[in-house]
This record gives sequence, C-alpha cells and structure tokens, in this order.
Amino acid sequence: MIDTRLTAALRATLQRVWGYPAFLPLQEDAARAVLEGRDSLVVLPTGGGKSLCYQAPAAHLGRLAVVVSPLIALMKDQVDALRQNGVRAAYLNSSQGPGERAAVERDLDAGRVTLLYVAPERLMMPGFFERLRRATPAFFAVDEAHCISQWGHDFRPEYRQLRVLKATFPGTAVHAYTATATPQVRDDIVAELGLENPVVLVGAVDRPNLVYRVVPRADRMRQVLAAIERHRDQAGIVYCIRRAEVDELSAALARRGLRALPYHAGLQDAPRRANQEAFVNERADIVVATVAFGMGIDRSNVRYVIHTGMPKSLEHYQQEAGRAGRDGLEADCLLLWSGADYALWKSVLEAESTPAPGTLRKLGEMFGFCQDAVCRHRALATYFGQPYPTPGCSRACDVCLGEVASVDDAQGIATKILRAVAELRGRFGAGHLVEVLAGAGGERIVGLHHDRLDAYGSLREARRPELRAWIDQLIGRGFLARTSGEYPTVVLTKHGAAVLRGELAAGPLSRIAKPARAARTPAVAPGGAAGGPDDRELFEALRRLRRELAEARGVPPYVVFGDATLREMVRLRPSTREEFLGVKGVGEWKCEEFGARFLAAIAAARTP
Ligand code: ADP
Ligand code: ZN
Repeated sequence: MIDTRLTAALRATLQRVWGYPAFLPLQEDAARAVLEGRDSLVVLPTGGGKSLCYQAPAAHLGRLAVVVSPLIALMKDQVDALRQNGVRAAYLNSSQGPGERAAVERDLDAGRVTLLYVAPERLMMPGFFERLRRATPAFFAVDEAHCISQWGHDFRPEYRQLRVLKATFPGTAVHAYTATATPQVRDDIVAELGLENPVVLVGAVDRPNLVYRVVPRADRMRQVLAAIERHRDQAGIVYCIRRAEVDELSAALARRGLRALPYHAGLQDAPRRANQEAFVNERADIVVATVAFGMGIDRSNVRYVIHTGMPKSLEHYQQEAGRAGRDGLEADCLLLWSGADYALWKSVLEAESTPAPGTLRKLGEMFGFCQDAVCRHRALATYFGQPYPTPGCSRACDVCLGEVASVDDAQGIATKILRAVAELRGRFGAGHLVEVLAGAGGERIVGLHHDRLDAYGSLREARRPELRAWIDQLIGRGFLARTSGEYPTVVLTKHGAAVLRGELAAGPLSRIAKPARAARTPAVAPGGAAGGPDDRELFEALRRLRRELAEARGVPPYVVFGDATLREMVRLRPSTREEFLGVKGVGEWKCEEFGARFLAAIAAARTP
C-alpha cells in the first residue's frame, strides 16, 4: 500500500534539503523501506544515488542514523557535503585525534547528530555500543555492503563483525547498499547481516550516460592523447596494468603540458595522498593509475576513463569504468586491449597459489567482450544477468555508433592466418606471424626463407595493427592458442584445424572487428556544457567561483555544487533568489550560503 502522505513528505525534504525535484529510480522505494522500519538490501549502480536512500529518510526523521562505511578517506567529504546542505552530520574513524573524537561523542550524547558515519572497526570498540544504545539510532545503513562477501571484489574481514548489529540492536532495522549485483553476493549480504525478511530492490546495472569504446591497442600514446584531446581541461582517469606504465605515461602526459599525476601502491603514502587530493580538489585533471586507485574517490565529474590495457574481469572493468559520469552527465569509457594483455593476466593468474574461484573463466569472458562486436551496454547487462530492453543502445557505444565494422571476407582472412600458422608449424610468435602475412622484408624473414612460404604476403593489403587484432580474435575464439613460456608462440588448435579443413562454419568469424576509425561523435565542450561560446564561458566562470568557495571552506568543489547543477545554472540563467532555488541541486541551505555569489556571477555574464 502506498502511503501518499509519507511520499509527499519525503519529496518535500528532498526538495528543501537537496534541491532535487524527484527521486531517481528505486530511491523512493528504498527510502520508504527505511521509514517503514523494514530491513532492506538495495542494489544500485555507481551514480544510482545510493546515499540519498538513507540520507533522505534520516533528514526527514531528524533522528540519529548510523552509517557504516569502509571508506575512511571518503567520510570527511560525505560529511562536508551533508553539512553544506544543512544536515547535522559527523564521523568517527581512526584518522581523528582524541580531541576531535571527543567532540563528536559529546554531540552524539547530546542528540545533535543526524547522520553518523563510522568505520566498522570503530563500531566494535569497547563501550561504543553502550553509547549508541543511549543515543537510540533510528536505523543502521551499511554502505559498500559487498565488502562482507568473499564473492565480492573487495572482501573486508572487519565487515564480518557487522553480524552483531542485529543481535545487539534487536528491533532496529539494518539497511544494506551495494553496486554489486550478483545473486551470490546478494544472498551473502542478507545472510551475514542477518537481515530479516528484507525488502530487496535491484536496479538496472546499465549506465546509459556512459559511451563505451573497446578498441584494439595499436599506438597507445596516440590513442590515449586523442581521447584526452576530446576532453581538454576535464577530469579523467587513465588506468594501466603495471606501475612502471603509470610512471612512464603520467610523465609523458605531464611533458605535454597536461595536468596529470601518477597513483599506485608503490608510491609513498604522502605523495600518493597528495595526488589523490589534487585530483579531487580539481588541481589536477588526470590521474594515471593502477587499479589501486578508485575506492574512496568521489569526484563526480570524471568525464572519461581510459584503460590502456584489458582488466582481468568484467567485474573489474565495470567498477573502474563506472567511476566516470557519476553525476549522470555523459562520459566516455575507452578500453584499449590486446591479446598480450590476455596472455599476461593468464600467466599471473596461473601463478597464484590460491586463485579465487572462476578467475580464468572471468578472464576469458573479459577477452570475449573485447572481441565481440555486440552492443557494449547490452553485453555488460547480459553478463550481469539482466535483460537489455533493445538490441542496441542509442549511440552510446562504438558498435552502435558504427565505428566497429566487420570485415567482408572474414572467412577468407581467417583461413589465410590459420594457414600461415600451420606453415610456420606453431614455432613463431604473433609478431613474426604478422611480418610474414604482411610480406615484410628483413633479414630474419629472408634468413629463415619465410619469404618463400605460401602465406608470405597473403594479407599484405591489411595494416599491421589489424593483423595483430585478427590474430588476437582467433586466439580468443579458440582457433589459435598462445603457448606459455618465455617466448610464446602461436599454435593451431583442433578447432582451428577443423576450420582449415572446411569442417567448421565461419559463423563467429564474421564478427571480426576492425580497429575503430576515428570517433565520429563531436568533441564535448569544456565542462560538458552544451551551447555556444557564451555558455561555455559562463560555465567556466561558475566553475572558478565554485573552486574558490570550496577552497575557502576546505571542501572539494563538488561539495559546493556538482557539474549537473552548474550546467542547469547556465541553461536557466536565474536572476532572482526564487529562480535560483528552482535550479536542480540547489537546496535551501546552499541558496542561503552561495546564492548571492552565483547570482552575481550570472548577472555579470549578462551585461556586455
Ligand atoms: P552512488 O553512491 O550510488 O554511486 P551517489 O549517492 O553518489 O551514488 O549519487 C550519485 C549522483 O547523483 C550524485 O551526484 C547525487 O548528487 C546525484 N543524485 C542522487 N539522487 C538524485 C536525485 N534524486 N536527483 C538528482 N540527482 C541525484
Ligand atoms: Zn550499443
């Protein structure tokens, strides 16, 4: 039964505090479960708006809600953001000195805290439950709840202790939030937290605002620069597999005058933290990083994520690419891949003494995703077990944009490559194979008399990166295999031999993807603001103002206003306080705090 009064009251809080006119999909159901005191499990993708599911009801009730989060680095930002909306928020974690902690505890005892963020280990400290009991929390919210599951991608043993919550606070609801949608993880969360008859809400995993491109890696530097060029002065993350690549690439970008910084676990604590903060506070545009970077990053206006190598699973890819466009505005995700990445991960995973279950299968599926030419949105949704409503997305991936063309004579090309491998008797690597197919000169070819092979020059009209990509695709389909060892060679498999004998259909081969041509979509204007030069100028002015105000308050810029809100200001150009309050993302508190300055900046843009 829908309680319309409750719904209306919640919406009023959402508008008054956050300045949002409506809930995002499932947010309202999730918030209502909280108000009804039911346990719940909410699965929403990154950017799906999980925080508001518990923050809105807490603000509505005006009573204490305890939020358990593993992301200590993020707590301060989250609390700052809430305070900028006029919500009484505080946190307790190991980063605080005794004085600061005591002050929070005093506020807690006096009933002056609405949202209290705590790290799980903090929650378990002696005496803390006693204090909480006196404060009578209205409910618990467990953020990043997948951390409780070994099947998730970020298991944290200290999360296991959260099962005592239900025992210690019987009758107080516990709510769990995660972006990880697999049924196994879901079941684990419910069991481990001891959720009783929970409301389970699972949102669509698809992120329609992300534009995916999956391109064979040819000239890494050129490909990376071209992608960055489309997003001058905007925020981006460039992921590399190895630390050495991070150092090299970030230095190369910096030499070209780009504001890029490195981030990986091999850096000392201090510079690593400094680089992360520079990025969050918009003093840097680009972070070049290993996968160590991301958890605990909350810059919502990341406009692009580039992978210079293939991740080891689609779970990882989804996580990392998902850091783009959390503000709901469009963002680009470019994945550069090669068969060498597959071989690298394979040897790494095979060398692990206790590999997590299914790792090699997941690697294979990741590689398959790269090679297939089906809509990327559809492929990802399907992988995560969700139906995708249409055959393709609307111009939000390289396949649907028509940038991936399949070759006309895939069967003929495949046969020529397989024949070459057979002729070389599986004794040579992919690099040499490419040279033979391309009909290259060179001492080695001549010395080995490989210029006399039938296969020599049989694909001389193709470009080398194309040849390389096709070989990778044939390996991915299981028609060829790469041997392990110091000098991996390419060998023919049983299935490959069957293709050569004409016994296997060329069906799957017809999908061979050509390296994408240059992107056809227009470059996005700075800040992503659509419209003419005036709009862009105003957007940049508002962005500068935002940074100035944020710096003065010691908070990240997005805490003042997100990009989506700045864009609305540019579009609506409010001139009165009432009009300013009508901008999405402007609540009452921020209108008081920032209204005058922003209205002045907008007025200044109006007068010539
Ligand atoms: P998640 O934690 O699920 O990744 P967040 O809670 O960080 O998502 O929210 C993502 C973005 O969406 C934030 O920029 C937030 O301000 C915005 N947002 C959340 N709820 C709404 C809403 N109802 N209307 C408009 N924007 C929203
Ligand atoms: Zn698509």
